Amino acid sequence: MTPSALNPDAQTRLDPPALLHALHAEFDRLNAAHFGGRLTLPEITLSRRKTYGGYYQPRKHRIVLSLQAYQEHGWPETVNTFRHEVAHIVYPNHSRAFWDLAHTLGCTQRYASAPLTPRRTPRKRYLYVCDACGSRLVRHRRLRNASCGSCDTKYNPKFALRLLSAE
Ligand SMILES: [Zn+2]
Ligand SMILES: [Zn+2]
Repeated sequence: MTPSALNPDAQTRLDPPALLHALHAEFDRLNAAHFGGRLTLPEITLSRRKTYGGYYQPRKHRIVLSLQAYQEHGWPETVNTFRHEVAHIVYPNHSRAFWDLAHTLGCTQRYASAPLTPRRTPRKRYLYVCDACGSRLVRHRRLRNASCGSCDTKYNPKFALRLLSAE
C-alpha cells in the first residue's frame, strides 16, 4: 500500500478495485481514529448505473457509491460522500448529531456537489398498451408476462400488455 493509493489526488482516477481498496483503507482509518475500532466493516460497492453520490443501506450494512460521481469529480468528492455515509451507520437521519459526526469524520461539504452529467445515451423506452382498456405505460426495460394493472390486479394473460414501440 503506497500512500498515494490511500490519498489519491483530485486528478487521479483509480480503477474500481483500487478505489475500493482506498475506501476500505479510509474506513479502517476512520474506525481507528474515531470509533476505537468498534464499527463493523460495511460492504462497500460501486454502482455504475445510479447518478446519486451515494447512500447507506442499514439492513444490508452496505455503502453504495456512484462510480460516475467518482469519474467526474475524483477522490475528494467520493471520500466526502463516503464519510457522510459512514456517519449514517451511526445516525440514520440528518440530525444535528449526524452533522457533528460527519464533520468530525472530515466531511467538508454538506451534500454531493455538482449535478452529474446526464447519460450520453438516454435510457431505452418501451411503450406498452393494454388493448382492453387502452392504458399506456412506459417502462425502461422489456416486460415479461406483464398484464394491465387497471384491468386486473393480478397477472392475467387476457389483459396482456402489448409492446407498441421501443426506442
Ligand atoms: Zn445523508
Ligand atoms: Zn387495461
